[in-house]
Amino acid sequence: MKNILADRTKLIDASGIRKVFALAAKMQDPVNFSIGQPDFDVPEALKEEAIKAIREGFNKYSQTAGDSLLKEKISELVKKELCWVKPAVLVTSGVSGGLLLAFLALINPGDEVIIPDPYFVMYKHLVNMLGGKCIFIDTYPNFNLPIEKIAQAITDKTKMIILNSPCNPTGVVYSQDEIKRLAKVAAEKDILILSDEIYEKLSYDGSCTSIANHYEKTLLLRGFSKPYAMTGWRLGYAATHPSLHEVIEEMTKIQQYTFVCAPTPFQKAAIAALDYDITDFVNAYRRKRDLLYNGLKDKFELVKPSGAFYAFVKAPGGSATPFVENAIKNNVLIIPGNVFSEKDTHFRISYATSDEKIKQGVETLRKLA
Ligand code: PMP
Repeated sequence: MKNILADRTKLIDASGIRKVFALAAKMQDPVNFSIGQPDFDVPEALKEEAIKAIREGFNKYSQTAGDSLLKEKISELVKKELCWVKPAVLVTSGVSGGLLLAFLALINPGDEVIIPDPYFVMYKHLVNMLGGKCIFIDTYPNFNLPIEKIAQAITDKTKMIILNSPCNPTGVVYSQDEIKRLAKVAAEKDILILSDEIYEKLSYDGSCTSIANHYEKTLLLRGFSKPYAMTGWRLGYAATHPSLHEVIEEMTKIQQYTFVCAPTPFQKAAIAALDYDITDFVNAYRRKRDLLYNGLKDKFELVKPSGAFYAFVKAPGGSATPFVENAIKNNVLIIPGNVFSEKDTHFRISYATSDEKIKQGVETLRKLA
């Protein structure tokens, strides 16, 4: 069969991650610094809520936009936090689901999407797949928001600016001042901000400012995967100020023909999750962050991460792939920067693993520095 695959498949490049995974298959009990998911399990109380929902028969489709009680709870939270009265809300299948629906609803071929580099992998591939054009804004070496550069990159074709704070892969949390300045630029040019806040609860040196607090034309995407360790439950939500309700309406329409709804019993458990206190997890991650950062800082060039569970470290010699290959040979699994960036100078560490493994990994990386 010839040409069975659509041309768009050629626009997606998974090679960076595949290469690491291929090498990983040969490893015995590795220090796995590669996985972007919490190492703890879903809290027992939330598991019980999901089991209860299944037993009580919440096993069918929910409304496309989500369980009405969950939507109400999200609306209350958004209203309280962002002062958006009557926000438009959609429950999604993870933030990944929210991103796909958002891009399908918003991006026309040729539209430009401004993305600070390094970036979460999905943005680039989804934008490319839809015929959009990524405009990467280099944020090296400090990974702060280069507001001037972003302002200069805005053209008539700019559809949105993507913001991800705390950031995957750098762990950087943007300051309130940076956020306010970006909001001002976006307002002046009347550009939508897509704010991926999946790690908003995992902020270790103060709270994380949402741009939605400073700019109404924000499409907010948040998730349950990371704060409650439920990556397999596939839950997230999208919310906008009422003035942008049509974005949520169109995303909901597309959800009808794609995901249909987020998993129903887990939506019930998510209602309880929103009241669940994760302070202990946040404290544990802060400790892990300190363990990793203090272990590497005198041997490597790295910005102290303030959120999420990643550090983005400069590879000795400035070339990540050979360093990553060497680390993997020494049983430490890390990801080269070119998976998250147009450059390949850094590598990403996920420190969502046991303290023992962090110590072991730090020791090996120090020897390789
Ligand atoms: N955004 C960012 C920045 C992420 O790191 C991830 C997961 N790695 C996602 C979105 C997607 O998460 P999920 O679909 O599990 O909610």
